[in-house]
Amino acid sequence: MNIFYAPPSQINNGFVELLDQEAMHASRVMRVKEGDRLTVVDGRGGWYEGPIRRITKKSLQVEVADQKHIALSKPALMLGMGIIKKRDRLEFAVEKAVELGATEIYLFRSEHTIKENVRMDRLEAIARSAMKQSLRAWLPEITLFHSLDEMLASVSDAMLLVAHEKVDSEQSNIDLRKLNAEKLLLLVGPEGGFSSNEIEKLKQQGANLVSLGNNRLRAETAAVTFLSQFI
Ligand code: SAH
Repeated sequence: MNIFYAPPSQINNGFVELLDQEAMHASRVMRVKEGDRLTVVDGRGGWYEGPIRRITKKSLQVEVADQKHIALSKPALMLGMGIIKKRDRLEFAVEKAVELGATEIYLFRSEHTIKENVRMDRLEAIARSAMKQSLRAWLPEITLFHSLDEMLASVSDAMLLVAHEKVDSEQSNIDLRKLNAEKLLLLVGPEGGFSSNEIEKLKQQGANLVSLGNNRLRAETAAVTFLSQFI
């Protein structure tokens, strides 16, 4: 099954309009024809199905015959990741986070962050395609923060869970499957990990430190492992 993406602004008066890449992918790669039925999601929970009524060079119009709204999963799973230096590893993490149902993705610079610039356009394209691949109707927004503090200030209402590999004594022994929270913010450090300063700060904010096993995982593996505790 293939699904396509159109943001809410392209859904009007009972018609969904696919534009540019999406339209070209449907008509040139998938070779859909007028009259074929298409499924389109809007990234905000909207799921639309119906026949294609018009195909032009750069756009494709679908008449909405059926539609439903898919609720955002509960608890909301926000993933906060330190920026990873290697682009392909960061892209892998974003792709898998979307597949696993992250509802927001935050990237932050931290004390041990080496790299500063991030190709947001590429990450957004990867997120869109991972949403379609995993047949989801929600597209997590990806936000870049200049510091851990800036990120924490913008997400004040979530329960904070921090993946941390050296926790023995400090580690919380909470049961991740039985958390009573509407929103969870899962934090994963960059390659160099969180600094002790940052861990102190996070603990002061009430964060729970969570171990993901006795071995040291790469940041992107930690992100996947962390999120998969909640599916
Ligand atoms: N500080 C380490 C490496 C950090 S690994 C060093 O340089 O030696 C990158 C991130 O993955 C960590 O900040 C942590 O958030 C997460 N992580 C890796 N292994 C983990 C584990 N076993 N348990 C919990 N989190 C882990």
